Amino acid sequence: MDFYHTRAARLLIVAGICLLGFCLWLFLYFQHATLTAYSNNWLEPYTSSPASSSRSGLVLYTGPITNIFFHSLVVYPWKAASDPINADLIRNNMVTVAQFKVILQELYNDQYILYDPRLLYSVDSGGRLHPADVYVPEGKKPLILSLDDLNYYTWMKNDGFADKLVLKDGTVKTEVVLPDGSVADTVDGDVVPIVDSFVAAHPDFSFNGVRGVIGVTGFEGILGYRTQLAGATGDYERQRAALVVAALKKEGWLFASHSYSHGPDFLNGSISTSSLAADIALWKAQVEPLVGSTNMFIGPFGQLFSPNDPRRTQLLNAGFNVLYGVGIDGYRKYFPTCLVMDRIDVDGYRLTHNESFLQTRLGI
Ligand SMILES: [Zn+2]
Repeated sequence: MDFYHTRAARLLIVAGICLLGFCLWLFLYFQHATLTAYSNNWLEPYTSSPASSSRSGLVLYTGPITNIFFHSLVVYPWKAASDPINADLIRNNMVTVAQFKVILQELYNDQYILYDPRLLYSVDSGGRLHPADVYVPEGKKPLILSLDDLNYYTWMKNDGFADKLVLKDGTVKTEVVLPDGSVADTVDGDVVPIVDSFVAAHPDFSFNGVRGVIGVTGFEGILGYRTQLAGATGDYERQRAALVVAALKKEGWLFASHSYSHGPDFLNGSISTSSLAADIALWKAQVEPLVGSTNMFIGPFGQLFSPNDPRRTQLLNAGFNVLYGVGIDGYRKYFPTCLVMDRIDVDGYRLTHNESFLQTRLGI
């Protein structure tokens, strides 16, 4: 009898198989543990950078971070076109529901994945902001989505937009006045429910469930609710808005300040330090209690002031250390205490004037 047929050899082979099995179990256990810790931690920005270039099936991403924003979508373009005052503004600054659905599908086809902007940095105990490594599922490209002016201003009434976001059956929908004058809750009256439905159908379009950043002003309330009003009417509006905000956060939406007033003095940069202080105070008093504290500021008209401008310092002192501007050059700069990023406006103007740019840069 040769060695391979002895009892000792058989025991050795069985022991070897057991050892291999144990090693495999150890590997899977730690891989799962890492993934679980990562998934549970997505609400907080990273505070450390991993040493390895991959983790839990994710890969280090070193390409451009794509940052885009939309205004509210036009549900009925013929209504918008019939507004003699605002038709051009809408045509230039908005896209239609039909256009947005095509854009979303093309972004998904082009391997973009909605990404949490809080994963781009860490903040140390001294308030200094540090770049963080970006990890994505292999083959995916991070996409930061933001929405400006999700307020459903009064001027938009009768212009073919939704009227407000509403919470129905546990999900956020759009309240839309139909052409026959009746009111309906729909799932495709603006970006929020369309993206929510799209992510439900394509979970791999969102990294850890995040959706995007909702920028709101305060002078006419938020999300279609006139929360700026005093008294019982305002109380009612605030209660309803708070319910929608809670549901949006649960769905993975984040909130940013888009200033309180969105005044023209932001556009030409003439806003005084005292006016800016008053604007910030109104935001803190009326909007922050509804949407919660946020460190993100979306400059009205893209206005963020220059780095050494005292008004930039005012924003930083108010707790806004992630600042969003407007621009198609992919500008993203880490200052010692803040991160500044430009966003591409995907709107009627770009679709008309920069079609080839959108095609090559975004694949849409
Ligand atoms: Zn705006």
